[in-house]
Amino acid sequence: MEPTPQVSHGDGDHERFAHYVQKDKIMASALDGTPVVALCGKVWVPGRDPKKYPVCPMCKEIFESMAGGGDDKGKGGDKK
Ligand SMILES: [Zn+2]
Repeated sequence: MEPTPQVSHGDGDHERFAHYVQKDKIMASALDGTPVVALCGKVWVPGRDPKKYPVCPMCKEIFESMAGGGDDKGKGGDKK
């Protein structure tokens, strides 16, 4: 159920990023061709090999804030 990078394409913009999407959404999309929604809010139908592209900075930031919410942050005094 971890978000995995997927590439956006074919929707008019020329950015080439791998966006983070829930894995079960990707599998559902592969079955019936429905678009997926990335963590950053981008909607598209995945199709290309995401390994060629850099990870979307916005997705990465959101993913890291989700994943790291309680490790070394938020303990003790909770100072920022
Ligand atoms: Zn993104």
